[in-house]
Amino acid sequence: MVFRCLPEPAFLGVARRREQVFNFAAGPGAIPEEVLLQARDELLDWRGTGMSVWELPFTGAEFREITARAADDLRQLLAIPSQYRVLFMHGGASAQFSLIPLNLLRGKGSADYADTGHWSRKAIIEARRYCAVNVAASGAATGFDRIPAWEEWRLDPGAAYCHITANETANGSEYHWVPDTGAVPLVADMTSNFLSRPVEVVRYGLIYAGAQKNIGPAGLTVVVVREDLIGGAAAATPSVFDYAIQAEADCCYNTPLTYAIYLAGLVFQWLKRQGGLTAMEARNARKSHKLYAAIARSGGFYRCPVIPRDRSRMNVCFTLADPALTESFLEQAAECGLVNLRGHKAAGGLRASLYNAMPEEGVARLVEFMDEFARTRG
Ligand SMILES: *Cc1c(COP(=O)(O)O)cnc(C)c1O
Repeated sequence: MVFRCLPEPAFLGVARRREQVFNFAAGPGAIPEEVLLQARDELLDWRGTGMSVWELPFTGAEFREITARAADDLRQLLAIPSQYRVLFMHGGASAQFSLIPLNLLRGKGSADYADTGHWSRKAIIEARRYCAVNVAASGAATGFDRIPAWEEWRLDPGAAYCHITANETANGSEYHWVPDTGAVPLVADMTSNFLSRPVEVVRYGLIYAGAQKNIGPAGLTVVVVREDLIGGAAAATPSVFDYAIQAEADCCYNTPLTYAIYLAGLVFQWLKRQGGLTAMEARNARKSHKLYAAIARSGGFYRCPVIPRDRSRMNVCFTLADPALTESFLEQAAECGLVNLRGHKAAGGLRASLYNAMPEEGVARLVEFMDEFARTRG
């Protein structure tokens, strides 16, 4: 698309074709090409209905089938036990920062939060509007270069729930273990690592993920919630955001994000064809190891601020020993079709997001470029 108010196509730098680009964006991120091709083929006429998915009534049998299939495929991928509900909601992950306290406090006055970086801080700020927040653990003292070790956590047994950010998209850290919060339900923001690896769902009371990182279009948010936590939302909770009302209505209390659910469903089918989450985990481990290895062998030319134990497989954050080279790194990478490598503004530096849709070839090309850039500029 060309925005007419901008000189075309200069705002893109150089015009490129899809096959010339590897998109390392943190979000919205890349979507598997197979999925986009299928969506293109079905755009005008979904399965002989003579209508686009955009045009299907959400109360009709066709759309019901699309949602049911998407929910079912997700249940299979994550092996979601029957006592959990899958909700497709509006508002992005940021809406859940409010909806979690509104729905889960249920008369309690406090909740535990682990402070591991940019996104957990956003969740904490929002939760403070509804309850007392006990920061059970914080990585602030060491600049969020790690997930606080379990021995350092100070949990409140009276907390309504304990919230973690499973993968810190901006800081490049990830939990490779699951906190055991006992009877206090564990709530996880998995926006940026959802479906990147198998998850033991029973360890969590609630898992949520904004779709635009690893599932599909922005706005859609997937919530997987244990049934006993549904009900008893605060009286002021908008009906569209009440888990009980949406669960009761099969997420059709109001018009759901029909096209986004359809596209997410295509991604779930694609993941099944790839061999499911075990296969994705192996692939994601290979991709991230390859990139961290390139950083390590650069002899300090590139640096990763996160300690090895807690490094993210999804968002590889790194800096250049000489920050003055950052802009030319970005420019030259873009010339090679390696785009959207700028770090989050809260963290600076560089970041390569390696979501499911990033092929191994993209990482190989990035590593080749980085080796060459270090050799010629180092
Ligand atoms: C991107 C992101 C969010 C915010 O998602 P929105 O859909 O834009 O609200 C929240 N948490 C994490 C971990 C993220 O990566």
